[in-house]
Amino acid sequence: MKSAMHLVSQTLLMGPGPSNVSEGVMRALGRPTIGHLDPRFIAVMDEVTSMLRTLFGTENELTIPLSGTGSAGMEACFVNLIEPGDRVLILQNGVFGVRMADVAARLGAEVDVVEFEWGRPVTVARAEEALFGADYRLVGIVHAETSTGVKNPVQEIGNLVRETGALYLVDTVTSLGGIPVDVDQWAADAVYSGTQKCLSCPPGLAPAAFSARAQAVLRHRSSKVPNWYLDLSLLSSYWEGAKRAYHHTAPINMVYALHAALSGLLEEGVEEVHARHCDAHNYLSDQLEKLNLDLFVEPGARLPMLNAVAIPSGVDDAAVRSRLLSDFGIEIGAGLGPLAGKIWRIGLMGHTARRANVDRLIAALGKLL
Ligand SMILES: *Cc1c(COP(=O)(O)O)cnc(C)c1O
Repeated sequence: MKSAMHLVSQTLLMGPGPSNVSEGVMRALGRPTIGHLDPRFIAVMDEVTSMLRTLFGTENELTIPLSGTGSAGMEACFVNLIEPGDRVLILQNGVFGVRMADVAARLGAEVDVVEFEWGRPVTVARAEEALFGADYRLVGIVHAETSTGVKNPVQEIGNLVRETGALYLVDTVTSLGGIPVDVDQWAADAVYSGTQKCLSCPPGLAPAAFSARAQAVLRHRSSKVPNWYLDLSLLSSYWEGAKRAYHHTAPINMVYALHAALSGLLEEGVEEVHARHCDAHNYLSDQLEKLNLDLFVEPGARLPMLNAVAIPSGVDDAAVRSRLLSDFGIEIGAGLGPLAGKIWRIGLMGHTARRANVDRLIAALGKLL
């Protein structure tokens, strides 16, 4: 009998993630599984953390890939840095800002949210007013809002957060590997990402980095981190130092895959990779114009790796997406929340960010519309 697996076939992934995985990364994934304390694996781990520091733009010692997807990275940041009653401010303009507020509230934080219109960036003026309005332990923002295709001004906000003394948490799930991420320059105390967006790995790891300030907050907690699996003080004894202690079994093969993805990225050159994302985005934007399709976000705030496209009136959103997949082998994303039915989300992430892929999508859309 045939299993469901026989239907799985190569698909051009132009949605909000996962993105297409390169053959090199696939080969790395298939290398022999070895022990998680094998010195040969520890050498791989050390190269991964070193490459992550380069890509994050940080010298933070505690820079590691957490086991789990991007949301595990989010959860790890809050669960380690927040205690019940702490005041948290979330600058929110999409699904992932909403998720941040939910995660923080579940931990007993007193959460304030400043909401910005979905599809528009966080503005420094309104953020500033809120930032100095209370004594916040932590301020959270999403760099690249995948739900809307908006880039937020994380450097400018970071400059202000530093003045307030709060910890600064930035979600870089979609931005890392697609646009510049400069953790130390932003003065970000905690950042997390995911492997399946612009790093073009399968989903499964959440690279994260924590500043010395964040680590100090962690050391001076009055209560234990209420989540054993994501407790950074336990995890760091596996990822750092001369003597490695077992905490949980690392997803060995995913770490190989991340190693291959990071190596490939650094070999191509970080700036070159960012330029390739920009080029694919500009090309897409030109081609969409020819189909009379408009981008939803204002030019200055657009993300190259996530393009929100306004769905023309009279077009059946779900039918187009479903035929793209069944007839052309191309996946694009739907709108979420208030933008459901209003936008498509076209991803140009990592390995997928190439003109040839844009051509395939535009040809297919041209036939369907
Ligand atoms: C995808 C994404 C997440 C969540 O990551 P998962 O891997 O789906 O858990 C968080 N933040 C942003 C900005 C994302 O795009």
